[in-house]
Amino acid sequence: MNPKIEALRSLEEFDHILRDIESDKYPDDSFKGLKASEQFIKIAEKERAKLTRKIDPKVLAQYERIMKRYGGRVVVQVIKEFCGGCYIRLPSELVVRCRTELVTCPNCGRFLYWVK
Ligand SMILES: [Zn+2]
Repeated sequence: MNPKIEALRSLEEFDHILRDIESDKYPDDSFKGLKASEQFIKIAEKERAKLTRKIDPKVLAQYERIMKRYGGRVVVQVIKEFCGGCYIRLPSELVVRCRTELVTCPNCGRFLYWVK
């Protein structure tokens, strides 16, 4: 996978983890109702910050915008030739480009990745 997309996917996972921890519902979902330790939260925040420094600030700003707008998935899979975020059919040149480049869906703006 394109390393740029990999960094964004990892960032998205950190955001989901940190959001889950903050949610009131979280202790019910976690294993045996255990809460995440302070130590884990600190580490996750630090690792997230480290990751953001590796991402182009323009791309990061775009990521934050989409995260705010949709609150959920920002980096989505291309399924055949469809966007996995908004389900529109993507132009075929985009489907080819997302294999090697960082591209976004022309409809929803989410980052696209492709899996063989
Ligand atoms: Zn889309």
